[in-house]
Amino acid sequence: MYREGIKGASRVVIKVGSSSITYPNGKICLNKIDRLAAQISDIHSGGGEAVLISSGAVSAGMGRLDCPIPSSIPEKQAVAAVGQGLLMQMYEKFFSEYSKCVGQMLLTRDCFSDPKRYLYSRNTLFSLLKYGVIPIINENDTVSVDELKIGDNDTLSAMVACIAGADLLIILSDIDGLYNVDPVKNKDAELISEVRRITDEMEANSTTKGNSISSGGMYTKLAAARITMANGIPMIIANGAEENILSRLLAGEKVGTIFLPHRGGYGEERRQWLSVGSKPVGAYVIDEGAEEAILYKGTNLLPSGAVEVMGDFGMGDVVSVRNGSGRIIARGISNFDDKDARKIIGKRTADVRKILGHIDYEELINRYNMALL
Ligand code: GLU
Repeated sequence: MYREGIKGASRVVIKVGSSSITYPNGKICLNKIDRLAAQISDIHSGGGEAVLISSGAVSAGMGRLDCPIPSSIPEKQAVAAVGQGLLMQMYEKFFSEYSKCVGQMLLTRDCFSDPKRYLYSRNTLFSLLKYGVIPIINENDTVSVDELKIGDNDTLSAMVACIAGADLLIILSDIDGLYNVDPVKNKDAELISEVRRITDEMEANSTTKGNSISSGGMYTKLAAARITMANGIPMIIANGAEENILSRLLAGEKVGTIFLPHRGGYGEERRQWLSVGSKPVGAYVIDEGAEEAILYKGTNLLPSGAVEVMGDFGMGDVVSVRNGSGRIIARGISNFDDKDARKIIGKRTADVRKILGHIDYEELINRYNMALL
C-alpha cells in the first residue's frame, strides 16, 4: 500500500489555497492560520522539513482594503501587494508562537525557466532549509504578468516540490480530493483515493477553474499532479478543514486523493532536458577517479576532480563533462563561471575558499543538476 511509504516523507511541500486561510470577504481567518502553523511546526519539531506555498495575497488585500474583487490587473497587483505583507505578518506571528522561524520567497516563472535564476532560487531554498527556516512561498503577484506569470499556486507548488527535491506535495483545499464525477454537479460523486494515471475522463470531469481570487480549481490541481508524477514525487489533495490533516496524512491515513509518481523517479524530467534540450557552452575535463565516482557512485563533480576547463561560460550555464579520452560522459549546470573554475580545478574544497575568497558552492556541478549521457 503506497500510503505506508508516506510515513517516511521528511521533506514536505504544503500548499494552501486562499479559501483555506481567509473568509470570502478576504478577512484573514486567524484560527485557520493558527492551526496550519501548529501542524507545520509539529512536522518541523518531529525532525521533518516543511515548505509552505501560500495563496491568499489578493484575498487578504481585499479584506484589508475593504474592496471588491479587483477587475484590472494593476489593481489586482496592488491589492496583492497589501495582502502579501499582511499574510507574512500573520505567519510570522503564529509560527513564532511555536518557536519557528519563517522566510518569504516570492517567485516568478523565470525562476524555473532561466537556468541561472533556477540555481539561485534553488540554492536560496536549500539555504533556508539548512538554517531550519520554514520557507513561505507565493508567486510574486505584484510584478508577474504575461510570460513572467506562473498563474496559479497549484502549479507553483508542484514546481517548488521539484526544485526542493521534496518527498511529498500536499495540496490543502476546500474539497476532500478528486471525485469520479464533478461533485458540484453530481451528488453521488465518489472520492478517488489513489490515482496512478490521469485519464482523459478525469480531465473532462475536472474543469472547475476556481474564481477570480483563487486561480485554481481541480483543473490546475491535475496539472500540478502531472508535474509531480513525472518527477517521481507523490502528491495528495486533501481538505484543509479536516482536523489534524497533516499529521494524519503523514501517518499514512487514507484521506484525500494520492497521485502516485511514475517510475523513473525524481529529477528525470530535468535530466531529460539537460541531456536532450540543453546546449552546452563549455566543458570540464575530468580525471579517472572523478569519472568513476560520477558514473558509478553518483557523486557531485568537485573542483579536485577536474583537470581542464574549456570555453567561455557563466555560472548557471550548461557544460559538458568529458573524460580524459575526450568522450562526453555527462552534461550539467555549472556552479562557477569559467574564470573562477580555471582558478580552482584540481584544488581541495578548503583551498577553494582561500583562492576565491568566498565559497558559495563546494561542487562544480551538483549531481542533481547533472545528466549522464
Ligand atoms: N498568488 C495568488 C494569491 O496569493 C493566488 C494564486 C492562486 O490562487 O493559485 O493571491
